[in-house]
Amino acid sequence: MYLDKDICKEGNPILKMKCQEVKLPLKDEDVKCLEQLYEYLIISENEEMTKRYNIRPGVGIAAPQVGVAKRMFAMNCTDFLDEKQTKYSYALINPQIVGYSEQMTYLPDGEGCLSVTRTTEGYVVPRHYVIKFKALAYDFITKKAKYITKILEGYPAIVFQHEYDHLDGILFVDKMVHKDETKAIPLYTVEKEDEEK
Ligand SMILES: [Zn+2]
Repeated sequence: MYLDKDICKEGNPILKMKCQEVKLPLKDEDVKCLEQLYEYLIISENEEMTKRYNIRPGVGIAAPQVGVAKRMFAMNCTDFLDEKQTKYSYALINPQIVGYSEQMTYLPDGEGCLSVTRTTEGYVVPRHYVIKFKALAYDFITKKAKYITKILEGYPAIVFQHEYDHLDGILFVDKMVHKDETKAIPLYTVEKEDEEK
């Protein structure tokens, strides 16, 4: 499994690279890498495990973050704004964004990244509110990959765009702007009691 020491941090040149398409048919080493990326996210959901292995929780991780400059990433997030708390778990190969809304949004508390250790308080990243993607999705149970096309909206769309940017050598800190400088609409309103804290 990947540990914090395996994750490339800001300043590492691999995080600035445009990653290569994954060649098909899939090689075992690529599947193994993707599986370990996905595993990291699943393990990091468990607080006890994050303490035991001293890892940071994450909802997405891309291959370049573990030193592999290939177009693959895993995401595992719950849409906390959705009544049904829908989960979005994907292990994706050669993803493409094939459509997006003009409407922009951002996480009012800003984004975080396993590769960025500094604080970026007050800074946010404008993202498309809706995206449509195509990708080869790997299923670790059936051990098969198949092409999928999905529309994501809100939080999972933001997570996807953050991870997708990693494949083009872009970190969220390269795109962030001060909260007061964006016309995008916050994804949710920060509650008053939070502001008073
Ligand atoms: Zn990141």
